[in-house]
Amino acid sequence: MGNKFISCDWLEHGIIFDHENVIRVCCSQCNEGGGRPVLRGQYYGEKLDWDRIFELKREMRNVQRTGQTYEKCRGCILLREDEWDDEDYINRLLLTHWINCNCKCVYCPAVRDEKLKANNRHYNIIPTLQEMCDRGILKKNAYISIAGGESTIYPEFEDMLHLLLDYGCDNILVNSSGIKYSPAIAKGITEQKVQLTISIDSGTQETYEKIKLVKTYDNIIESLSKYSEAQIYNKDMVCSKFIIVPGFNDREEEIEAWIENTAALGLKHVSIDVDLRWIHEHFDNLKNERRIYDLIVFTQKAAERENLILRYDERASIMRKIHKIDTAIFGGTMQRIKG
Ligand code: SF4
Ligand code: SF4
Repeated sequence: MGNKFISCDWLEHGIIFDHENVIRVCCSQCNEGGGRPVLRGQYYGEKLDWDRIFELKREMRNVQRTGQTYEKCRGCILLREDEWDDEDYINRLLLTHWINCNCKCVYCPAVRDEKLKANNRHYNIIPTLQEMCDRGILKKNAYISIAGGESTIYPEFEDMLHLLLDYGCDNILVNSSGIKYSPAIAKGITEQKVQLTISIDSGTQETYEKIKLVKTYDNIIESLSKYSEAQIYNKDMVCSKFIIVPGFNDREEEIEAWIENTAALGLKHVSIDVDLRWIHEHFDNLKNERRIYDLIVFTQKAAERENLILRYDERASIMRKIHKIDTAIFGGTMQRIKG
């Protein structure tokens, strides 16, 4: 039975396995209430009590049904009025339970958080996913996001992706550093089931190396080229992303070079975002940060000129909203953009 009230997709039917070995409802943390409601701590791949997981989600979801806002969700821009059902299932899944990476982006708090790294225990998530598939807990049309750390460097990555593809999942978004090429990702791209985002954050090797702190520019360009070629039936599956990192790449010429390189590789999608640390540091003054907003507008115009589809990710959307432009869709998949 559907009924209309304010809630969000993650609160209703979402789950994330995060790199603190915690199972949460979402990973959003830019809102007044703090976000990231917890469903279970200390998770290392054991068999899950799904009745308990859904019971906890219900307690949170029911707050929305009374017209109130669940404490952790206060001020979240993902809240919206819609028709929501009362069923228990997962149709939003974020896998980010690993932390190691093959690069060291200057804006990434995870790879340089020694305490977090020491506390993160990698586990094989395949049995958990297998149960979710076998019991139909996971919807086949679920939006699945695979992030990290860097997922492709884990031994079970190829098998994990094949499991989801074989189950019938067709709306999988992988975020990768692009340094290691993955045949499973390429297969999913060709089958139009996997959409890949590689955050290159630069238009030149020099800037890339300053931000990533590794000398792998050629690898990432080669991977982007191969993934671009894997787009046999649909040229919309691979996205090159640029996170504006003030002090490193916040220049029009850098964005221009990135856009031109992306088009030359035969890619059709780009996304723009802003460094989370910078957003947090300037949170009370974002409406006066016109320069960063102008770079987002510049990106929009350059992407339009090259006939690229531009996705605004979370912080870019926040900047647009603060500057009075609503971004209808963000943080979703490119399929959703087209839809
Ligand atoms: S409303 Fe925001 S904080 Fe709450 S579950 Fe949804 S995404 Fe997370
Ligand atoms: S690629 Fe992702 S996980 Fe790796 S250092 Fe960069 S932001 Fe962090």
